[in-house]
Amino acid sequence: MSNAELARHLELFADLLEIEGENRFKIRAYRNAARTIYDLPEQVEAMVADGADLTQIPSVGKEIAEKLEAMVATGELPQLSELSQKIPLGVTEVMRVKGMGPKLAEAAWRELAIDSVDELERAAKAGKLGALPGFGEKRQATILKNIEAYRKNVERLRIGDIDPVIAPLVAALRAVEGAERVEVAGSYRRRRETVGDIDLLAIAADDAAAAAITAAFVGYPEVDEVLGSGDTRSSVRLRNGLEVDLRVMEAESFGAALLYFTGSKAHNVALRQIALERGLHLTEYGLFEGTGAEGEGASPKSSGKLVASRTEEEIYEKLGLQYVEPEMREDRGELALAAKGQLPTLVTLADLRGDLHMHSTWSDGKASVAEMMRACIERGYEYMALTDHSKALAMTGGLDEEKLARQWEELDRVVAENPGITLLRGMEVDILKDGSLDLSDEWLERLDIVLVSVHSHFGLSLEEQTARIVKAVSHPEVNVLCHPTGRILGAREGYAVDLQEVFDACHANGVAVELNASYMRLDLSDVNVIAARKRGLMVSIGTDAHSVKELDGMQLGIDQARRAWLTPEHVLNARPLDEVRRFLAKGR
Ligand SMILES: [Zn+2]
Ligand SMILES: [Zn+2]
Repeated sequence: MSNAELARHLELFADLLEIEGENRFKIRAYRNAARTIYDLPEQVEAMVADGADLTQIPSVGKEIAEKLEAMVATGELPQLSELSQKIPLGVTEVMRVKGMGPKLAEAAWRELAIDSVDELERAAKAGKLGALPGFGEKRQATILKNIEAYRKNVERLRIGDIDPVIAPLVAALRAVEGAERVEVAGSYRRRRETVGDIDLLAIAADDAAAAAITAAFVGYPEVDEVLGSGDTRSSVRLRNGLEVDLRVMEAESFGAALLYFTGSKAHNVALRQIALERGLHLTEYGLFEGTGAEGEGASPKSSGKLVASRTEEEIYEKLGLQYVEPEMREDRGELALAAKGQLPTLVTLADLRGDLHMHSTWSDGKASVAEMMRACIERGYEYMALTDHSKALAMTGGLDEEKLARQWEELDRVVAENPGITLLRGMEVDILKDGSLDLSDEWLERLDIVLVSVHSHFGLSLEEQTARIVKAVSHPEVNVLCHPTGRILGAREGYAVDLQEVFDACHANGVAVELNASYMRLDLSDVNVIAARKRGLMVSIGTDAHSVKELDGMQLGIDQARRAWLTPEHVLNARPLDEVRRFLAKGR
Protein backbone atom coordinates (compact mmCIF):
# COMPACT_ATOMS: atom_id res chain seq x y z
CA MET A 1 0.00 0.00 0.00
CA SER A 2 1.26 3.46 -0.87
CA ASN A 3 1.43 6.19 1.77
CA ALA A 4 -1.57 7.88 0.13
CA GLU A 5 -3.63 4.71 0.49
CA LEU A 6 -2.55 4.21 4.09
CA ALA A 7 -3.48 7.81 4.83
CA ARG A 8 -6.86 7.42 3.18
CA HIS A 9 -7.62 4.34 5.30
CA LEU A 10 -6.70 6.18 8.50
CA GLU A 11 -8.81 9.15 7.45
CA LEU A 12 -11.81 6.93 6.69
CA PHE A 13 -11.37 5.20 10.01
CA ALA A 14 -11.38 8.59 11.75
CA ASP A 15 -14.55 9.54 9.84
CA LEU A 16 -16.31 6.40 10.99
CA LEU A 17 -15.13 6.92 14.57
CA GLU A 18 -16.56 10.41 14.41
CA ILE A 19 -19.92 9.16 13.16
CA GLU A 20 -19.86 6.60 15.96
CA GLY A 21 -19.34 9.45 18.41
CA GLU A 22 -15.89 8.28 19.56
CA ASN A 23 -13.60 10.38 21.78
CA ARG A 24 -12.43 13.44 19.86
CA PHE A 25 -8.78 13.11 20.91
CA LYS A 26 -8.67 9.67 19.41
CA ILE A 27 -10.26 10.95 16.20
CA ARG A 28 -7.79 13.80 16.00
CA ALA A 29 -4.87 11.42 16.55
CA TYR A 30 -5.94 9.40 13.50
CA ARG A 31 -6.42 12.50 11.37
CA ASN A 32 -3.01 13.90 12.34
CA ALA A 33 -1.35 10.59 11.57
CA ALA A 34 -3.12 10.43 8.20
CA ARG A 35 -1.82 13.87 7.25
CA THR A 36 1.73 13.07 8.36
CA ILE A 37 1.78 9.78 6.44
CA TYR A 38 0.41 11.46 3.33
CA ASP A 39 3.27 13.98 3.44
CA LEU A 40 5.99 11.53 4.41
CA PRO A 41 8.76 11.21 1.82
CA GLU A 42 9.72 7.74 3.06
CA GLN A 43 7.35 4.95 2.07
CA VAL A 44 5.88 3.31 5.17
CA GLU A 45 5.88 0.01 3.30
CA ALA A 46 9.64 0.27 2.81
CA MET A 47 10.12 1.26 6.45
CA VAL A 48 8.22 -1.82 7.57
CA ALA A 49 10.30 -4.00 5.25
CA ASP A 50 13.44 -2.53 6.82
CA GLY A 51 12.09 -3.26 10.30
CA ALA A 52 12.01 0.44 11.20
CA ASP A 53 10.19 1.63 14.32
CA LEU A 54 7.10 3.41 12.98
CA THR A 55 6.50 5.28 16.24
CA GLN A 56 9.46 7.46 15.20
CA ILE A 57 7.15 9.03 12.62
CA PRO A 58 5.68 12.20 14.14
CA SER A 59 2.00 11.78 15.23
CA VAL A 60 2.28 8.00 15.08
CA GLY A 61 1.87 6.30 18.45
CA LYS A 62 1.91 2.63 19.29
CA GLU A 63 -1.72 1.97 18.41
CA ILE A 64 -1.50 3.61 14.99
CA ALA A 65 1.90 2.03 14.28
CA GLU A 66 0.34 -1.40 14.83
CA LYS A 67 -2.49 -0.55 12.47
CA LEU A 68 -0.02 0.62 9.81
CA GLU A 69 1.91 -2.61 10.10
CA ALA A 70 -1.30 -4.61 9.79
CA MET A 71 -2.27 -2.66 6.69
CA VAL A 72 1.11 -3.17 5.07
CA ALA A 73 0.96 -6.90 5.85
CA THR A 74 -2.63 -7.56 4.81
CA GLY A 75 -3.58 -4.72 2.49
CA GLU A 76 -6.49 -3.72 4.72
CA LEU A 77 -7.32 -2.26 8.09
CA PRO A 78 -9.36 -4.93 9.90
CA GLN A 79 -10.99 -2.41 12.27
CA LEU A 80 -12.03 -0.32 9.28
CA SER A 81 -13.60 -3.32 7.56
CA GLU A 82 -15.41 -4.14 10.81
CA LEU A 83 -16.71 -0.61 11.30
CA SER A 84 -17.76 -0.31 7.68
CA GLN A 85 -19.94 -3.41 8.20
CA LYS A 86 -21.85 -1.30 10.70
CA ILE A 87 -21.72 2.08 8.94
CA PRO A 88 -21.62 2.33 5.14
CA LEU A 89 -18.60 4.29 3.90
CA GLY A 90 -20.87 6.58 1.88
CA VAL A 91 -22.03 8.13 5.16
CA THR A 92 -18.55 9.67 5.49
CA GLU A 93 -19.20 11.57 2.25
CA VAL A 94 -22.61 12.73 3.45
CA MET A 95 -20.85 14.03 6.56
CA ARG A 96 -18.61 16.25 4.40
CA VAL A 97 -21.49 18.13 2.81
CA LYS A 98 -21.65 21.52 4.48
CA GLY A 99 -24.56 21.73 6.91
CA MET A 100 -24.52 17.99 7.60
CA GLY A 101 -21.57 16.93 9.78
CA PRO A 102 -21.15 13.59 11.56
CA LYS A 103 -24.23 13.72 13.82
CA LEU A 104 -26.72 14.60 11.10
CA ALA A 105 -25.10 12.20 8.64
CA GLU A 106 -25.57 9.45 11.20
CA ALA A 107 -29.18 10.45 11.83
CA ALA A 108 -29.89 10.62 8.09
CA TRP A 109 -28.54 7.15 7.67
CA ARG A 110 -30.36 5.62 10.66
CA GLU A 111 -33.67 7.38 10.08
CA LEU A 112 -33.75 7.62 6.30
CA ALA A 113 -31.21 5.01 5.15
CA ILE A 114 -29.22 7.73 3.37
CA ASP A 115 -25.79 6.28 2.66
CA SER A 116 -24.50 8.43 -0.18
CA VAL A 117 -24.50 12.04 -1.37
CA ASP A 118 -26.77 10.98 -4.25
CA GLU A 119 -29.28 9.57 -1.76
CA LEU A 120 -29.05 12.75 0.28
CA GLU A 121 -29.84 14.77 -2.82
CA ARG A 122 -32.86 12.62 -3.68
CA ALA A 123 -34.20 12.89 -0.14
CA ALA A 124 -33.73 16.67 -0.05
CA LYS A 125 -35.49 17.06 -3.39
CA ALA A 126 -38.37 14.89 -2.17
CA GLY A 127 -38.57 16.99 1.00
CA LYS A 128 -37.82 13.97 3.16
CA LEU A 129 -35.07 15.57 5.20
CA GLY A 130 -37.81 17.23 7.23
CA ALA A 131 -37.75 14.06 9.33
CA LEU A 132 -34.35 15.12 10.70
CA PRO A 133 -34.07 17.35 13.77
CA GLY A 134 -34.17 21.05 12.90
CA PHE A 135 -34.79 20.58 9.18
CA GLY A 136 -37.29 22.92 7.62
CA GLU A 137 -37.88 23.58 3.96
CA LYS A 138 -35.30 26.34 3.78
CA ARG A 139 -32.60 24.12 5.23
CA GLN A 140 -33.34 21.41 2.69
CA ALA A 141 -32.87 23.93 -0.09
CA THR A 142 -29.57 25.00 1.45
CA ILE A 143 -28.41 21.39 1.59
CA LEU A 144 -29.16 21.02 -2.12
CA LYS A 145 -26.97 24.03 -2.87
CA ASN A 146 -24.27 22.65 -0.60
CA ILE A 147 -24.36 19.28 -2.37
CA GLU A 148 -23.71 21.08 -5.61
CA ALA A 149 -20.80 22.94 -4.05
CA TYR A 150 -19.48 19.74 -2.51
CA ARG A 151 -19.41 18.01 -5.89
CA LYS A 152 -17.70 20.93 -7.58
CA ASN A 153 -15.24 21.29 -4.74
CA VAL A 154 -14.24 17.67 -4.71
CA GLU A 155 -13.12 18.04 -8.29
CA ARG A 156 -12.04 21.65 -8.41
CA LEU A 157 -9.60 22.49 -5.71
CA ARG A 158 -6.40 22.80 -7.73
CA ILE A 159 -4.75 26.18 -7.44
CA GLY A 160 -4.16 26.19 -11.19
CA ASP A 161 -7.91 25.98 -11.71
CA ILE A 162 -8.61 28.76 -9.23
CA ASP A 163 -6.02 31.29 -10.45
CA PRO A 164 -7.84 32.17 -13.69
CA VAL A 165 -11.02 32.85 -11.69
CA ILE A 166 -9.57 34.80 -8.77
CA ALA A 167 -7.07 37.01 -10.61
CA PRO A 168 -9.78 38.84 -12.66
CA LEU A 169 -12.01 39.19 -9.58
CA VAL A 170 -9.19 40.84 -7.66
CA ALA A 171 -8.43 43.07 -10.65
CA ALA A 172 -12.09 44.12 -10.82
CA LEU A 173 -12.12 45.07 -7.14
CA ARG A 174 -8.84 46.94 -7.43
CA ALA A 175 -10.37 49.00 -10.21
CA VAL A 176 -13.11 50.34 -7.89
CA GLU A 177 -12.59 54.00 -7.03
CA GLY A 178 -11.41 54.34 -3.45
CA ALA A 179 -10.15 50.74 -3.25
CA GLU A 180 -6.68 51.48 -1.92
CA ARG A 181 -5.62 47.89 -1.68
CA VAL A 182 -7.12 44.46 -2.38
CA GLU A 183 -5.26 41.27 -1.48
CA VAL A 184 -6.02 37.58 -1.36
CA ALA A 185 -5.06 35.94 1.93
CA GLY A 186 -5.36 32.31 3.07
CA SER A 187 -3.80 29.22 1.57
CA TYR A 188 -4.20 30.81 -1.87
CA ARG A 189 -1.64 33.44 -0.88
CA ARG A 190 0.61 30.76 0.55
CA ARG A 191 0.20 29.07 -2.84
CA ARG A 192 -0.80 25.68 -1.54
CA GLU A 193 -1.42 23.22 -4.36
CA THR A 194 -5.09 22.94 -3.43
CA VAL A 195 -7.34 25.59 -1.99
CA GLY A 196 -10.61 25.29 -0.04
CA ASP A 197 -12.01 28.80 -0.08
CA ILE A 198 -10.78 32.31 -0.69
CA ASP A 199 -10.35 35.23 1.75
CA LEU A 200 -10.11 38.69 0.27
CA LEU A 201 -9.08 41.78 2.25
CA ALA A 202 -9.59 45.31 1.03
CA ILE A 203 -8.74 48.79 2.25
CA ALA A 204 -11.40 51.37 1.46
CA ALA A 205 -10.60 55.10 1.44
CA ASP A 206 -13.93 55.94 3.09
CA ASP A 207 -17.42 54.57 3.69
CA ALA A 208 -18.55 55.33 0.17
CA ALA A 209 -15.60 53.41 -1.22
CA ALA A 210 -16.34 50.50 1.12
CA ALA A 211 -19.90 50.34 -0.17
CA ALA A 212 -18.68 50.51 -3.76
CA ILE A 213 -16.19 47.65 -3.23
CA THR A 214 -18.87 45.51 -1.62
CA ALA A 215 -21.31 46.27 -4.44
CA ALA A 216 -18.69 45.33 -7.04
CA PHE A 217 -18.00 42.12 -5.16
CA VAL A 218 -21.56 40.83 -4.73
CA GLY A 219 -22.43 42.03 -8.23
CA TYR A 220 -19.44 40.38 -9.90
CA PRO A 221 -20.69 38.43 -12.94
CA GLU A 222 -19.17 35.11 -11.81
CA VAL A 223 -21.11 35.20 -8.53
CA ASP A 224 -23.68 32.43 -8.34
CA GLU A 225 -25.08 33.24 -4.92
CA VAL A 226 -24.62 35.92 -2.28
CA LEU A 227 -24.29 34.11 1.04
CA GLY A 228 -24.18 37.27 3.12
CA SER A 229 -23.46 40.95 2.75
CA GLY A 230 -22.75 43.61 5.38
CA ASP A 231 -20.75 46.83 5.80
CA THR A 232 -17.43 45.15 6.49
CA ARG A 233 -17.91 41.56 5.48
CA SER A 234 -19.58 39.78 2.56
CA SER A 235 -19.41 36.32 1.17
CA VAL A 236 -20.43 34.78 -2.11
CA ARG A 237 -20.29 31.51 -3.93
CA LEU A 238 -18.90 31.65 -7.45
CA ARG A 239 -20.23 29.60 -10.34
CA ASN A 240 -17.38 27.13 -9.98
CA GLY A 241 -18.52 26.33 -6.42
CA LEU A 242 -15.77 28.32 -4.70
CA GLU A 243 -16.75 30.36 -1.63
CA VAL A 244 -15.15 33.79 -1.40
CA ASP A 245 -15.16 36.02 1.68
CA LEU A 246 -14.43 39.73 1.50
CA ARG A 247 -13.48 41.90 4.46
CA VAL A 248 -13.31 45.65 3.96
CA MET A 249 -11.25 47.53 6.54
CA GLU A 250 -9.23 50.59 7.32
CA ALA A 251 -5.56 50.86 6.43
CA GLU A 252 -4.71 51.01 10.13
CA SER A 253 -5.16 47.29 10.84
CA PHE A 254 -4.63 45.87 7.36
CA GLY A 255 -1.22 44.29 8.02
CA ALA A 256 -2.45 42.49 11.12
CA ALA A 257 -5.50 41.21 9.27
CA LEU A 258 -3.47 40.11 6.27
CA LEU A 259 -1.07 38.24 8.54
CA TYR A 260 -3.93 36.65 10.46
CA PHE A 261 -5.96 35.55 7.45
CA THR A 262 -2.96 34.36 5.46
CA GLY A 263 -2.06 31.79 8.12
CA SER A 264 -1.13 29.08 8.29
CA LYS A 265 -2.80 28.46 11.59
CA ALA A 266 0.36 26.77 12.84
CA HIS A 267 2.53 29.72 11.79
CA ASN A 268 0.16 32.13 13.55
CA VAL A 269 0.12 30.09 16.74
CA ALA A 270 3.91 30.14 16.78
CA LEU A 271 3.93 33.90 16.11
CA ARG A 272 1.53 34.54 18.99
CA GLN A 273 3.82 32.54 21.25
CA ILE A 274 6.79 34.67 20.25
CA ALA A 275 4.70 37.79 20.98
CA LEU A 276 3.83 36.52 24.46
CA GLU A 277 7.51 35.85 25.18
CA ARG A 278 8.12 39.53 24.44
CA GLY A 279 5.30 40.68 26.69
CA LEU A 280 3.11 41.44 23.67
CA HIS A 281 0.05 39.91 22.13
CA LEU A 282 -0.95 39.51 18.53
CA THR A 283 -4.51 39.49 17.20
CA GLU A 284 -6.14 40.01 13.83
CA TYR A 285 -6.27 43.74 14.74
CA GLY A 286 -2.66 44.28 15.66
CA LEU A 287 0.30 43.67 17.92
CA PHE A 288 -0.37 45.11 21.37
CA GLU A 289 1.52 45.71 24.60
CA GLY A 290 0.76 43.35 27.47
CA THR A 291 0.00 39.68 27.20
CA GLY A 292 -3.70 40.38 26.69
CA ALA A 293 -4.75 38.10 29.53
CA GLU A 294 -6.70 40.94 31.12
CA GLY A 295 -8.42 41.57 27.81
CA GLU A 296 -9.80 38.06 27.57
CA GLY A 297 -13.39 38.32 26.38
CA ALA A 298 -13.11 42.08 25.88
CA SER A 299 -12.81 43.57 22.42
CA PRO A 300 -9.32 42.69 21.18
CA LYS A 301 -9.18 46.15 19.59
CA SER A 302 -9.07 47.85 22.95
CA SER A 303 -6.67 45.76 24.99
CA GLY A 304 -3.22 47.27 25.51
CA LYS A 305 -1.32 49.93 23.59
CA LEU A 306 -0.94 49.30 19.87
CA VAL A 307 2.62 48.43 18.82
CA ALA A 308 2.14 47.66 15.12
CA SER A 309 -0.71 46.79 12.77
CA ARG A 310 -0.41 48.68 9.48
CA THR A 311 1.91 46.28 7.62
CA GLU A 312 3.06 42.70 8.05
CA GLU A 313 6.65 43.89 7.79
CA GLU A 314 6.27 46.12 10.88
CA ILE A 315 4.72 43.35 12.90
CA TYR A 316 7.49 40.87 12.09
CA GLU A 317 10.05 43.55 12.86
CA LYS A 318 8.55 44.35 16.27
CA LEU A 319 8.65 40.63 17.02
CA GLY A 320 12.37 40.62 16.26
CA LEU A 321 11.85 38.62 13.08
CA GLN A 322 12.73 38.94 9.42
CA TYR A 323 9.74 39.24 7.09
CA VAL A 324 8.58 35.72 6.20
CA GLU A 325 7.34 35.16 2.65
CA PRO A 326 3.77 33.78 2.63
CA GLU A 327 4.84 30.54 0.91
CA MET A 328 7.06 29.76 3.90
CA ARG A 329 4.43 30.32 6.60
CA GLU A 330 3.82 26.70 7.47
CA ASP A 331 5.66 26.40 10.78
CA ARG A 332 8.33 24.22 9.24
CA GLY A 333 11.19 25.98 11.01
CA GLU A 334 10.90 29.33 9.22
CA LEU A 335 10.48 31.35 12.43
CA ALA A 336 13.69 30.03 13.98
CA LEU A 337 15.56 31.17 10.87
CA ALA A 338 13.71 34.51 10.81
CA ALA A 339 14.79 35.13 14.40
CA LYS A 340 18.42 34.64 13.38
CA GLY A 341 18.07 36.67 10.20
CA GLN A 342 18.90 33.60 8.13
CA LEU A 343 15.86 33.13 5.91
CA PRO A 344 16.78 31.98 2.41
CA THR A 345 16.24 34.27 -0.58
CA LEU A 346 13.61 32.33 -2.44
CA VAL A 347 13.74 31.75 -6.18
CA THR A 348 11.49 33.95 -8.33
CA LEU A 349 10.27 33.71 -11.90
CA ALA A 350 12.80 36.39 -12.85
CA ASP A 351 15.64 34.10 -11.76
CA LEU A 352 14.83 31.49 -14.39
CA ARG A 353 17.06 31.40 -17.45
CA GLY A 354 15.35 28.65 -19.37
CA ASP A 355 12.77 25.89 -19.55
CA LEU A 356 14.08 22.34 -19.85
CA HIS A 357 10.87 20.43 -20.60
CA MET A 358 8.59 21.07 -23.59
CA HIS A 359 7.04 19.35 -26.57
CA SER A 360 6.49 20.32 -30.19
CA THR A 361 4.40 19.01 -33.08
CA TRP A 362 7.12 16.38 -33.55
CA SER A 363 5.28 14.48 -30.78
CA ASP A 364 2.06 15.63 -29.08
CA GLY A 365 2.72 19.38 -28.81
CA LYS A 366 0.53 21.91 -30.60
CA ALA A 367 3.25 24.35 -31.73
CA SER A 368 6.17 23.90 -34.09
CA VAL A 369 9.75 23.98 -32.90
CA ALA A 370 10.16 27.46 -34.40
CA GLU A 371 7.07 28.73 -32.59
CA MET A 372 8.23 27.29 -29.26
CA MET A 373 11.66 28.79 -29.80
CA ARG A 374 10.36 32.27 -30.55
CA ALA A 375 8.06 32.06 -27.51
CA CYS A 376 11.03 31.18 -25.30
CA ILE A 377 12.98 34.13 -26.68
CA GLU A 378 10.00 36.39 -25.96
CA ARG A 379 10.00 35.14 -22.37
CA GLY A 380 13.58 36.26 -22.02
CA TYR A 381 15.12 32.80 -21.72
CA GLU A 382 18.80 32.25 -22.48
CA TYR A 383 18.31 28.58 -23.24
CA MET A 384 15.62 25.96 -23.73
CA ALA A 385 15.44 22.23 -24.11
CA LEU A 386 13.17 20.64 -26.68
CA THR A 387 12.12 17.31 -25.23
CA ASP A 388 9.62 15.43 -27.36
CA HIS A 389 8.39 11.98 -26.39
CA SER A 390 10.07 8.72 -27.36
CA LYS A 391 8.44 5.97 -29.42
CA ALA A 392 6.94 3.92 -26.55
CA LEU A 393 4.30 6.62 -26.22
CA ALA A 394 2.89 5.76 -29.63
CA MET A 395 -0.31 7.79 -29.12
CA THR A 396 1.80 10.95 -28.83
CA GLY A 397 3.64 10.20 -32.05
CA GLY A 398 6.79 9.63 -30.03
CA LEU A 399 10.10 9.63 -31.88
CA ASP A 400 12.29 6.67 -32.76
CA GLU A 401 15.92 7.12 -33.83
CA GLU A 402 15.05 7.69 -37.45
CA LYS A 403 12.41 10.32 -36.72
CA LEU A 404 14.77 11.97 -34.27
CA ALA A 405 17.38 12.26 -37.02
CA ARG A 406 14.80 13.99 -39.20
CA GLN A 407 13.84 16.30 -36.34
CA TRP A 408 17.48 17.32 -36.00
CA GLU A 409 17.56 18.46 -39.63
CA GLU A 410 14.72 20.84 -38.82
CA LEU A 411 16.47 21.91 -35.62
CA ASP A 412 19.59 22.85 -37.61
CA ARG A 413 17.45 25.18 -39.71
CA VAL A 414 15.46 26.69 -36.85
CA VAL A 415 18.58 27.27 -34.75
CA ALA A 416 20.23 29.11 -37.64
CA GLU A 417 17.14 31.34 -37.95
CA ASN A 418 16.89 32.11 -34.21
CA PRO A 419 20.28 33.13 -32.84
CA GLY A 420 18.71 34.75 -29.74
CA ILE A 421 18.64 31.56 -27.67
CA THR A 422 20.59 28.36 -27.11
CA LEU A 423 18.71 25.19 -27.95
CA LEU A 424 19.53 22.08 -25.99
CA ARG A 425 18.62 19.01 -28.00
CA GLY A 426 16.76 16.72 -25.70
CA MET A 427 14.11 14.10 -25.38
CA GLU A 428 11.68 12.89 -22.74
CA VAL A 429 12.60 9.23 -22.92
CA ASP A 430 10.19 6.66 -21.56
CA ILE A 431 11.35 4.40 -18.78
CA LEU A 432 10.33 0.94 -19.97
CA LYS A 433 8.85 -1.65 -17.65
CA ASP A 434 12.22 -3.18 -16.82
CA GLY A 435 13.92 0.19 -16.22
CA SER A 436 15.70 0.30 -19.56
CA LEU A 437 15.32 3.38 -21.76
CA ASP A 438 13.29 3.82 -24.93
CA LEU A 439 16.18 5.09 -27.10
CA SER A 440 19.48 3.63 -28.27
CA ASP A 441 22.63 4.42 -26.29
CA GLU A 442 24.10 5.94 -29.43
CA TRP A 443 21.36 8.59 -29.55
CA LEU A 444 21.27 9.03 -25.77
CA GLU A 445 24.94 10.01 -26.01
CA ARG A 446 24.29 12.48 -28.81
CA LEU A 447 21.52 14.33 -26.97
CA ASP A 448 22.43 17.46 -24.96
CA ILE A 449 19.91 16.60 -22.27
CA VAL A 450 18.06 13.40 -21.46
CA LEU A 451 14.85 13.51 -19.44
CA VAL A 452 13.36 10.22 -18.28
CA SER A 453 9.77 9.57 -17.25
CA VAL A 454 7.38 6.84 -16.20
CA HIS A 455 4.25 6.94 -18.38
CA SER A 456 3.11 3.32 -18.07
CA HIS A 457 2.91 0.35 -15.66
CA PHE A 458 1.76 2.45 -12.73
CA GLY A 459 0.56 -0.67 -10.90
CA LEU A 460 3.95 -2.24 -10.19
CA SER A 461 4.75 -3.09 -6.60
CA LEU A 462 6.79 -0.67 -4.53
CA GLU A 463 9.93 -2.78 -4.95
CA GLU A 464 9.52 -3.22 -8.71
CA GLN A 465 8.67 0.42 -9.36
CA THR A 466 11.56 1.67 -7.22
CA ALA A 467 14.05 -0.73 -8.82
CA ARG A 468 12.78 0.25 -12.27
CA ILE A 469 13.32 3.97 -11.69
CA VAL A 470 16.63 3.49 -9.88
CA LYS A 471 17.88 1.51 -12.86
CA ALA A 472 16.75 4.23 -15.27
CA VAL A 473 18.43 7.12 -13.43
CA SER A 474 21.59 5.05 -13.09
CA HIS A 475 22.05 5.09 -16.86
CA PRO A 476 25.09 7.35 -17.41
CA GLU A 477 23.35 9.56 -20.00
CA VAL A 478 20.32 10.49 -17.89
CA ASN A 479 20.06 14.08 -16.58
CA VAL A 480 16.57 14.72 -15.18
CA LEU A 481 13.92 12.47 -13.67
CA CYS A 482 10.57 14.01 -14.66
CA HIS A 483 7.33 14.09 -12.65
CA PRO A 484 8.85 11.54 -10.25
CA THR A 485 5.65 10.27 -8.58
CA GLY A 486 3.26 10.29 -11.53
CA ARG A 487 0.43 11.85 -9.56
CA ILE A 488 -2.34 13.85 -11.20
CA LEU A 489 -3.80 16.35 -8.75
CA GLY A 490 -7.37 15.50 -7.83
CA ALA A 491 -7.43 12.55 -10.20
CA ARG A 492 -4.66 10.03 -9.58
CA GLU A 493 -2.37 9.33 -6.68
CA GLY A 494 1.20 8.62 -7.62
CA TYR A 495 2.49 5.09 -8.11
CA ALA A 496 4.07 3.27 -5.19
CA VAL A 497 7.73 4.24 -5.08
CA ASP A 498 10.39 4.68 -2.42
CA LEU A 499 11.38 8.26 -3.19
CA GLN A 500 14.28 8.27 -0.73
CA GLU A 501 15.87 5.39 -2.58
CA VAL A 502 15.25 7.08 -5.91
CA PHE A 503 16.73 10.32 -4.56
CA ASP A 504 19.81 8.44 -3.37
CA ALA A 505 20.26 7.02 -6.85
CA CYS A 506 19.78 10.47 -8.45
CA HIS A 507 22.37 11.89 -6.09
CA ALA A 508 24.89 9.16 -6.84
CA ASN A 509 24.42 9.65 -10.60
CA GLY A 510 24.30 13.44 -10.91
CA VAL A 511 20.65 13.41 -11.93
CA ALA A 512 18.28 16.30 -11.17
CA VAL A 513 14.66 15.78 -10.19
CA GLU A 514 11.88 17.74 -11.82
CA LEU A 515 9.26 19.91 -10.26
CA ASN A 516 6.77 19.60 -13.10
CA ALA A 517 4.91 22.92 -13.16
CA SER A 518 1.83 21.67 -15.01
CA TYR A 519 -1.21 22.65 -12.91
CA MET A 520 -2.43 19.06 -13.14
CA ARG A 521 0.80 17.61 -11.78
CA LEU A 522 2.91 19.85 -9.53
CA ASP A 523 5.09 16.77 -9.17
CA LEU A 524 7.24 16.72 -7.05
CA SER A 525 4.99 18.20 -4.38
CA ASP A 526 6.37 20.84 -2.02
CA VAL A 527 7.06 18.27 0.70
CA ASN A 528 8.92 16.02 -1.70
CA VAL A 529 10.92 18.97 -3.05
CA ILE A 530 11.96 19.67 0.54
CA ALA A 531 13.20 16.09 0.78
CA ALA A 532 15.06 16.47 -2.53
CA ARG A 533 16.68 19.69 -1.34
CA LYS A 534 17.75 18.05 1.90
CA ARG A 535 19.23 15.20 -0.14
CA GLY A 536 21.31 17.80 -2.01
CA LEU A 537 19.61 17.28 -5.38
CA MET A 538 19.30 19.85 -8.14
CA VAL A 539 15.68 20.61 -9.03
CA SER A 540 14.62 21.42 -12.57
CA ILE A 541 11.37 23.38 -12.80
CA GLY A 542 9.85 22.45 -16.14
CA THR A 543 6.54 23.50 -17.68
CA ASP A 544 6.11 20.36 -19.80
CA ALA A 545 4.48 22.80 -22.21
CA HIS A 546 2.54 21.25 -25.07
CA SER A 547 1.68 24.68 -26.48
CA VAL A 548 3.06 28.23 -26.44
CA LYS A 549 0.54 29.26 -23.80
CA GLU A 550 1.59 26.47 -21.45
CA LEU A 551 5.09 27.96 -21.28
CA ASP A 552 3.46 30.51 -18.95
CA GLY A 553 2.66 27.77 -16.44
CA MET A 554 6.10 28.28 -14.89
CA GLN A 555 4.79 30.45 -12.04
CA LEU A 556 2.94 27.54 -10.43
CA GLY A 557 6.20 25.61 -10.32
CA ILE A 558 8.00 28.61 -8.83
CA ASP A 559 5.28 28.86 -6.17
CA GLN A 560 5.81 25.28 -5.08
CA ALA A 561 9.60 25.69 -5.21
CA ARG A 562 9.27 28.65 -2.85
CA ARG A 563 7.12 26.57 -0.53
CA ALA A 564 10.05 24.15 -0.47
CA TRP A 565 12.50 27.00 0.32
CA LEU A 566 14.40 26.71 -2.93
CA THR A 567 16.85 29.48 -3.81
CA PRO A 568 18.28 30.07 -7.32
CA GLU A 569 21.24 27.87 -6.30
CA HIS A 570 18.95 24.85 -5.99
CA VAL A 571 17.27 25.26 -9.37
CA LEU A 572 19.03 23.86 -12.43
CA ASN A 573 17.27 26.18 -14.88
CA ALA A 574 18.14 29.24 -12.80
CA ARG A 575 21.84 28.51 -13.39
CA PRO A 576 23.89 30.09 -16.20
CA LEU A 577 24.23 28.03 -19.37
CA ASP A 578 27.86 27.02 -18.79
CA GLU A 579 26.94 25.66 -15.38
CA VAL A 580 23.98 23.79 -16.82
CA ARG A 581 26.26 22.28 -19.46
CA ARG A 582 28.73 21.19 -16.77
CA PHE A 583 25.89 19.57 -14.85
CA LEU A 584 24.67 17.77 -17.96
CA ALA A 585 28.18 16.58 -18.78
CA LYS A 586 28.55 15.02 -15.29
CA GLY A 587 32.22 15.93 -15.11
CA ARG A 588 33.03 14.28 -18.43
ZN1 LIG B 1 5.83 13.15 -19.18
ZN1 LIG C 1 6.54 15.96 -21.08
